[in-house]
Amino acid sequence: MIQKTVHIKDTKKLVGSLPAIRYTEPKYLYLAMANARCPKAELFIKEGDHVNSCQVIGMRYGPFFNQPIHATCSGTYIGLEKHYHRNGKLTDFIKIENDFKNTLDKSVHTRTPEEIAALTKEDMTKILEDCASVGLGGSSFPTFVKFKTDKPINMILVNGIECEPYITADHRIMLEYPYRIMEAIKYVMQAFNCKHAKICIKSKYKDIKAVYDQVLKEYKDSGIELCLVGNYYPQGWEVEMIKSATGIQLKPGELPTNRGILNLNVSTMVGIYKSIKYNMPVIKRDITVTGDGIMYPKNFRVRVGTSIKDLIPMCGGYKDPEKDKIFILGGPMMGASVPSDDCIITKTVTSIIILNKTDYVEQPCVRCGSCVLSCPVHLEPVQIMNAVKTLDKERIKKLNPLRCIECGLCTYTCTSKIQVTDYVRKAKVIAKL
Ligand code: SF4
Ligand code: SF4
Repeated sequence: MIQKTVHIKDTKKLVGSLPAIRYTEPKYLYLAMANARCPKAELFIKEGDHVNSCQVIGMRYGPFFNQPIHATCSGTYIGLEKHYHRNGKLTDFIKIENDFKNTLDKSVHTRTPEEIAALTKEDMTKILEDCASVGLGGSSFPTFVKFKTDKPINMILVNGIECEPYITADHRIMLEYPYRIMEAIKYVMQAFNCKHAKICIKSKYKDIKAVYDQVLKEYKDSGIELCLVGNYYPQGWEVEMIKSATGIQLKPGELPTNRGILNLNVSTMVGIYKSIKYNMPVIKRDITVTGDGIMYPKNFRVRVGTSIKDLIPMCGGYKDPEKDKIFILGGPMMGASVPSDDCIITKTVTSIIILNKTDYVEQPCVRCGSCVLSCPVHLEPVQIMNAVKTLDKERIKKLNPLRCIECGLCTYTCTSKIQVTDYVRKAKVIAKL
């Protein structure tokens, strides 16, 4: 079947090339006790305790790995408070009152170039595990687990494609921290004794290209190059990126490492740089606040744990305040909606999109086939939807919904404005029963 290439309306111009505003000293910071990958947690501090920035104050426990919880400022632990997590659920957050002294934990220290040059893959894996490094493009997949592969790696792909509409956090990271990204690529290449790396961006990102064309002159013979890929969605999906950058087509469910490829997001690379160079966890990140429901969409650099509520006034408040709003954490295609702005920026929140709610009436399916033609993994979303409606479990399983990457294209392209992706998500749950 021929797949239709979908070009999504360019909403990135709402924030264009605006620099990231530093908002790194809020009065309170909030750190999630648990998350989807690590649902249990233990706290090592009690109310009233003083904590240092980057100090391990607790541990999250999951079925496959544990994750240290690091304080993202110095100050006093106040207690637990409920706020919305990026998964849309009310969650316990550890509330820290910032003392604005930014006292760093003693575990933070600078490694000399000689010390870094002596680090093995195992050393770096341990550092990344201790620093709780995860995929900052939204995946939250632990970086140390990627590093644990025993497959030989001959190509590092750095994903700067950021193909979802609206979001520009990675765009800013690429423009503002090119040297951190380049150094981190060198560290990863060292770990895997890998000679080749490609930084993948959309070909339309002329400003990023100009920066890296210049910076790469200083990294002659490093084996690192810029790779321009297509301007369509979901070009940033690892399967599409790998196909465009290397010509390799992964089989469904196949891991990139199976083909000698390690892929990491650009923001993750900046986190890796801080961990290897300074033994520092990710305590700050870039985030985009945008959408037609906000007065002045902006990019910010914030401490992890900042409340979205703090950023709204800095964007001039809500546009059309009398209208109901929709809040989406992450991109509009793959992000999760939350009921209010009472949500917290965790490490993996790339953006908040605030939209004015418009009522629309879902029309009956007209069997146009758009959802089928747009599906990047060649599913039949309309058939899956019909099987869900009739609760036909056998049919659902045959239609293979578990291959869905939740890219949202079936909903985006639906002529009848049906939330087709929601049906496919339900099918995934049913197929697992
Ligand atoms: S959300 Fe899933 S079913 Fe829909 S187009 Fe994307 S991959 Fe296909
Ligand atoms: S895109 Fe919408 S209207 Fe068209 S076949 Fe799919 S579900 Fe039906």
